[in-house]
Amino acid sequence: MNAQHRMVIEADNGAEVLFVCPHEGCGRRLVLKRSGGLVVLDRGDFFALHSGGRGVEVWADIAS
Ligand SMILES: [Zn+2]
Repeated sequence: MNAQHRMVIEADNGAEVLFVCPHEGCGRRLVLKRSGGLVVLDRGDFFALHSGGRGVEVWADIAS
């Protein structure tokens, strides 16, 4: 059974959005590019399912 973590937006410069996972002991961080693609900065809890979003923009499982 995998934990589900909801990531939150820490920074947004219009072109890229920095997501962080506030879950204790995880600390996953990634940058989502509005032009497409994402870069994982810190992997965090590999087995957790990560999701995040803002308003109607929702990215399910922005993991991997
Ligand atoms: Zn997490």
